Amino acid sequence: MATPHDLSLGSTGCQSATGRIRSGGPVVRGNFPRTRGRAAEYRRPAACAPRNRSCQSRAIMLGFVLFAFSNFPILAQNQTLDLILPTDNDALFSGGGAAFYQHIERNYKGVKSTPWEGGQYGFVRDPTDTAGGVVYTRFHEGIDIRPLHRDAHGEPLDEVRAIADGKVVHVNSVPGYSNYGKYIVVEHHWNGSDYYSLYGHLSSITVRSGEPVKRGQQIAVMGYTGTGLNRERAHLHLELNLMLSDQFEAWYNTFFRNDPNHNGIYNGMNLIGLDIARLYLALRKNPSLTIPEFLSREETFYKVTLPKSRHFELPKFYPWMLTTSGRNEKSSWEVSFAKSGVPLRIEPSDKSVTQPELSYVKNRPVNYSYLTRDMVSGHGANAHLTDYGRQLMRLLIWPD
Ligand SMILES: [Zn+2]
Repeated sequence: MATPHDLSLGSTGCQSATGRIRSGGPVVRGNFPRTRGRAAEYRRPAACAPRNRSCQSRAIMLGFVLFAFSNFPILAQNQTLDLILPTDNDALFSGGGAAFYQHIERNYKGVKSTPWEGGQYGFVRDPTDTAGGVVYTRFHEGIDIRPLHRDAHGEPLDEVRAIADGKVVHVNSVPGYSNYGKYIVVEHHWNGSDYYSLYGHLSSITVRSGEPVKRGQQIAVMGYTGTGLNRERAHLHLELNLMLSDQFEAWYNTFFRNDPNHNGIYNGMNLIGLDIARLYLALRKNPSLTIPEFLSREETFYKVTLPKSRHFELPKFYPWMLTTSGRNEKSSWEVSFAKSGVPLRIEPSDKSVTQPELSYVKNRPVNYSYLTRDMVSGHGANAHLTDYGRQLMRLLIWPD
């Protein structure tokens, strides 16, 4: 998810240029299955006489095969999160640091530096002086993995691979259509929900939209496409995302009419990245960890109450966020968010609202716009959703 203030930076890119988010373009909604039939096709067995023994045993075999295949979707849903790193660089597992993360170029109060820390996930960029001390105000929604292989001219050569089995749902081959430059989105189906890995700043792409990919399969070559990058800072920008809404395009065209969306529902604003580096490390300790379990450890930083709407898709995409299994007879929904903007929990509420309203924010002595990617603004009791915050919350129930 990118906010207007970090359009050139946070979720959509890894650099400090000041260009706006690019979006629009090839709409690939046809490749976005909300229901996963995946019904296997079976060949009709040749008709055979009932008393023929070999036919009987074939019928039994066929029954077994049909049974096994009919259970396939259930088995597939319970698969574990078996993620691999997308390039040869595995220094994340030996401490991370400068060996793993690509540095950024920082100019803070006239002092230039190249901290690798800026390649991490989170509030790692744009230090700003506040009454509460220095606060890093710019959010980086993924991780920047540095190359291990370059040719004689310094061009990066690292293979980029799918981090898990899935399906390519979006390929952007036009660098100028996004601050991610050339990028790929792969959809993964884990325990009944869809998640989206995103690979940005690629130099070349070796898969097509709609293509199934296997964990570890090469999908691209690392590069430095996208705004404000150069060869020295070549890296793979990797995200693992939740999707906010499949009504994104209509919502976007209402609020950002002058800036065409080239990337359909796979625009970075509609994808909200979780802390993928921490997820890799947590999976090493506990290979059976699920994303709901992982996110259940995240701290709620703010809550927003949404009017009841039949267009509220988040609980359909991610039923595990719902705290109640029954029908909602109450008047609204309260959604809990992490600082990063990742939605964590959805609860029915008695509060009556006609538009999205901030209903809770963690007490902090700093202006909330610095801490929430400009979703919430103000101090203390004056905290409120920003215009952009209200817009983005409307995306969750669009077109209401
Ligand atoms: Zn990045």
